[in-house]
Amino acid sequence: CTPGGPKSREENILVTVRVRPLSSREQTAYDLIAWDVADEHTVVSRNLNHERHTGPYTFDRVFDPTCSTHKVYIEGARDVALSALNGINATIFAYGQTSSGKTFTMRGITENAVKDIYDHIKNNPERDFILKLSALEIYNETVVDLLNRESGPLRLLDDPEKGTIVEKLIEEVVNDGQHLNQLIGICEAQRQVGETALNDKSSRSHQIIRLTIESSLRENLGCVQTFLASLNLVDLAGSERASQTNADGTRLKEGSHINRSLLTLTTVIRKLSGGKRNSHIPYRDSKLTRILQTSLGGNARTAIICTMSPALSHVEQSRNTLSFATSAK
Ligand code: ADP
Ligand code: MG
Repeated sequence: CTPGGPKSREENILVTVRVRPLSSREQTAYDLIAWDVADEHTVVSRNLNHERHTGPYTFDRVFDPTCSTHKVYIEGARDVALSALNGINATIFAYGQTSSGKTFTMRGITENAVKDIYDHIKNNPERDFILKLSALEIYNETVVDLLNRESGPLRLLDDPEKGTIVEKLIEEVVNDGQHLNQLIGICEAQRQVGETALNDKSSRSHQIIRLTIESSLRENLGCVQTFLASLNLVDLAGSERASQTNADGTRLKEGSHINRSLLTLTTVIRKLSGGKRNSHIPYRDSKLTRILQTSLGGNARTAIICTMSPALSHVEQSRNTLSFATSAK
């Protein structure tokens, strides 16, 4: 894995790229490697005589196929995750086409973050912590509780103080790290429901695991300082759903391919990172961006981990991912 130090930027959006290894299926099909990680910041495309040779693309950090998820966590997410312990809302996304490694990466990031947060709690006995977990899935702009699927589609409500809230969403109080991992396991299992009936469901749905962290610190003279923030761990729908055009550039006739939440999220991120924080940011245009509004922009911290296949057969989608990542910087 290319060496590099933990990234801690003042800017609110940290953008990294993770290139996964060639899969066994790609190897069996004699697929070629189309991209190289030139150094810890740069992806370059190999010169394989395909027409549009582009790049180099540079980011806060680029992880080559030999980098472990622990490394990705430390250098691409840790800082953002831990800010939620200090009252700053945080969101960590995996963005990329289907099969590029989003779920693989977010599972590992979640595992690392849970361990890190509980280590931090153990090392700060002077602070009292209360953690709560909620988890939801957005599929076709329908919100479902992953801790209570039976409750059916959930409505979004506007709360004058909290902003957008999800009606009837269960918030489970977490006892300890083991309990938290157990709850996350339940959410993972719930996410599989309906997967066989709708075989591309995971490529179309977004999953949000939200950890709300509240703590209080007793100071001199009986003063109590309190902190409250949420950490959102988001496994997005496949980025091939973000495009309004076909591979050949013609506009899609059918709206069904387009994922409104993903499309709106990319617009919101582009506007936030383009220094247009004062212009209209269309949070209200999708369920995903409404739910995440208070954890994006403003005082919030965001880490975007863009995942991609190195394969030549996916070069077009990888290029789209790299261009989204570039616009998010
Ligand atoms: P996505 O969620 O983007 O559709 P997955 O996370 O399911 O993609 O990954 C597709 C396959 O590739 C899975 O079998 C996964 O285990 C494997 N994979 C993804 N990223 C890596 C990686 N960095 N190292 C090894 N295997 C990976
Ligand atoms: Mg997935």
